Amino acid sequence: MMPVASLTRLILRHTTEPHGPVGLMYHSVRQDSGKPDWPWAVSRQRFTEQLDLLADEGYTTPTINELITRSPNWPQRTALITFDDGYVDNLDACAELQKRGMRATWFIVTGSLDQSPRWPEDGRPAGRLLNASELREIQSAGMEIGSHTVSHERLTNVDDAHLLTELADSKATLEDILGSSVNSFAYPYGAWDKRCATAAKQVGYTAACTTQTGWALRDNNPFQLRRLTVFNSDTASMLARKLYFGSHDVRWRDIAGSHLWRALGK
Ligand SMILES: [Zn+2]
Repeated sequence: MMPVASLTRLILRHTTEPHGPVGLMYHSVRQDSGKPDWPWAVSRQRFTEQLDLLADEGYTTPTINELITRSPNWPQRTALITFDDGYVDNLDACAELQKRGMRATWFIVTGSLDQSPRWPEDGRPAGRLLNASELREIQSAGMEIGSHTVSHERLTNVDDAHLLTELADSKATLEDILGSSVNSFAYPYGAWDKRCATAAKQVGYTAACTTQTGWALRDNNPFQLRRLTVFNSDTASMLARKLYFGSHDVRWRDIAGSHLWRALGK
């Protein structure tokens, strides 16, 4: 049995088919080393192993805004690292990214700044979310701050006026805090439709992220950027498989019979 670390390297060495950037979605990064209970949290240890894998394998990690506004031809190995909701433990994650010269984008719920999330409980970690001065700190570390609405509503369920308020008010609040324009957005619960995408464009965003699996630009639409969920149980090896397949739903059995398996001579 080949050691997992070598297998991980082999998997990525055979990532040759052109597919463009991959988006990764994180939420909370816990200090404790054990596996977090909440599926959308990762331990700090796992997180840093995943960053080291991306760095070792030569991934470029632009912010969403950089992806949209700069060169249309990003290197094959480009990963968009994103964080939803604004958990306060993300400050440490930001420091780990900064240490490695990596960048990421944060999606913030402005109606819950500096307090416990005001949207329905779902097993997430207790405690407050990031506050205004912490957002400025993250921005000055070279990261991007984007919006995740005012109240974390499922936007496909709200009327037009409410939709515009969620999009525009959160943007204005963040621009006020940061003193610069806020261009990127993430749909809460990944819930979006054409009406939401049109409204996001109308209020001045230039990009919006979903939670659909697949390569980020698969739909060739900046208001429909796909992201892979990083789960509490994901090892560096699992992340390598996600990066190879461009899917967050991969198991070893998917590898058997694939191009990769043949390339490995199995
Ligand atoms: Zn969220």
